[in-house]
Amino acid sequence: VNETLDLLIKLQKLDSIIIKHSKTIKNIPSKINSMETPFKEAEATLERLNSNFENLDKKKREKENSVNENNDRAEKLKTRTNDIKDNKAYTAHLKEIDGLERSTRKLEDDVLYSMEAIEASAGRVKEAEDALKTEEGRLEGLKKKLDLEVDEAKDGLRNMKEDRSALTKGLDEDTFKLYMDILANKGGSAVVKVEDSVCDGCNENIMPQLVVEIAKNEKIIHCPQCRRILYQEVEETSEVSDGTQD
Ligand SMILES: [Zn+2]
Repeated sequence: VNETLDLLIKLQKLDSIIIKHSKTIKNIPSKINSMETPFKEAEATLERLNSNFENLDKKKREKENSVNENNDRAEKLKTRTNDIKDNKAYTAHLKEIDGLERSTRKLEDDVLYSMEAIEASAGRVKEAEDALKTEEGRLEGLKKKLDLEVDEAKDGLRNMKEDRSALTKGLDEDTFKLYMDILANKGGSAVVKVEDSVCDGCNENIMPQLVVEIAKNEKIIHCPQCRRILYQEVEETSEVSDGTQD
């Protein structure tokens, strides 16, 4: 195999992995973002249930205050009862007390209903708090796992970039530029195999004479359709070859 071609094939294999790892790292924030949705929803639910609880509690306290006010007023009225001599005024007085007491009983019933509603609401708040805690734990776990993945990918990338500069040292400037140009314009694939007379990059058929030439792996041949550099995969090449054979 041509030395330059061999280097290019190795470079492409390395770059494909580098690109994949870089994408993984780049996608992590949006991945975390999408994983946060259930947590944020649990947070919103808890907030809504908390404000519902507070509303119920506030209404209950208002009713309790009204009960106290009614009781005070009824007490005051009752202390005056014996002072009233006029019959008509006396009847009206008793009627007022009775009205107050009836309103108080109604309010006390309302307080009881409120307490039931508050208890049910507190149960729902507790459930939502538990659900939020669960989501929080799940999210923390996932984040930790992703952080680890990023660290590993970054370490791997560092090593691969060292390997890469060792590889590119063997290429002349023009070939490297050509490679980088195709890599940038063809979605990260500049060097591709020919399989069954088809370019692995653009899936177009390659003419038979060219396929024969490519199969020799002796020089840089471009796909007439997509300009990618073509090669024929040789069983024992890639892994074992040290790039010095030809
Ligand atoms: Zn092609």
